[in-house]
Amino acid sequence: MTTSKRDYYEVLGVARDATPEDLKKAFRKQALKHHPDRNKEAGASDRFKEINEAYQVLSDPQRKAQYDQFGHEGVNGQAGRGFDGFEGFGGFGDIFDSFFGGSTRQAPNRGADLEFQINVSFRDAAFGVPRELELNRMERCERCDGNRVEPGTDVVECSTCHGEGKVRRTQRTFFGQFQQVTACPTCQGEGQQIKTACKQCSGKGTERKSRTIEVQVPPGVEHGTRLLIHGEGESGGRGNGNGDLYVHIGVQRDKVFSRRGNDVLMTADINMAMAALGGIINVETLEGSADIDIKPGTQSGSVTRIKNAGIPHMGTAGRRGDQLVELKVVTPKKLDDEQTELLQKLAESFGLERVSENSGSEQGIFDRFKDAFRGEDSDS
Ligand SMILES: [Zn+2]
Ligand SMILES: [Zn+2]
Repeated sequence: MTTSKRDYYEVLGVARDATPEDLKKAFRKQALKHHPDRNKEAGASDRFKEINEAYQVLSDPQRKAQYDQFGHEGVNGQAGRGFDGFEGFGGFGDIFDSFFGGSTRQAPNRGADLEFQINVSFRDAAFGVPRELELNRMERCERCDGNRVEPGTDVVECSTCHGEGKVRRTQRTFFGQFQQVTACPTCQGEGQQIKTACKQCSGKGTERKSRTIEVQVPPGVEHGTRLLIHGEGESGGRGNGNGDLYVHIGVQRDKVFSRRGNDVLMTADINMAMAALGGIINVETLEGSADIDIKPGTQSGSVTRIKNAGIPHMGTAGRRGDQLVELKVVTPKKLDDEQTELLQKLAESFGLERVSENSGSEQGIFDRFKDAFRGEDSDS
């Protein structure tokens, strides 16, 4: 089962001296192409994992350096080892950091925060997915770079504060004379006044723009999660910070799976013969399918666990839940002659009489069961 790993640069299709920007672009392109939801070709899911793994390593300067120097050995244990290479999603912490980017500095005049709702499929939520968001937001004016002045024209000294940006007010009180220094109300402390306002933004320094930004929906994300993307809100204009962007994630229901914590749940039907005799069935998993062993004597409602086939823990590389398969024993509604005969033989061997030719037998059997229950009752 051991296959030699492909070179990470080769996986992403970039040169060894690719810039972080190039890597990101290549990753995005490959990830979109091979995402299992879009690409139904055999091996797409493996390829997708490979791409993720490569990007997780190469986008981390430290691990990239280790990889460049030592190859796959250099980053083993952190990425790409394990039963299916899923650990390749390691390094998620880096993405996580960029979402929850450090401190939440709060400047008084910073730009407004933006909120955005996106919906992702159950499987995208499980494995993460890059998403493009179309934002319509206030950005710093490109023409004047937020300076509010038409390029090439002069700014003039503020006539109120004479360029100082401050004004002094003298107050006389009972206790004496105080001088209060405040920001100049005419120029808001800038010391300058605009003679010719920027034509593009009418001197506001900001303008509304449509902007597409890319967001990485992290693997394991739950319905209702809110991602904070620092500084991607509206511009607060020159000298003021940007607002933040909040992305609310809705996770769609899946036809096959539901989620409980990091486990995925599903039900699978088995016929009563298999329930009694045992056997093997093949069930769908998030990434393909798996065989499960049905033990002889399996009861309807019993649960089989497929280890590590569940949803990755958000923010914890290499950990994932299990898949729980509830087995439902299905009683056949239609039988052909041969099956009827076989089942009647079976019924006889269980000590029951032939039932189908015996009119009024249903009542008879019901009474027998009642007797059996009475028997139990009287025993206790
Ligand atoms: Zn402008
Ligand atoms: Zn002034």
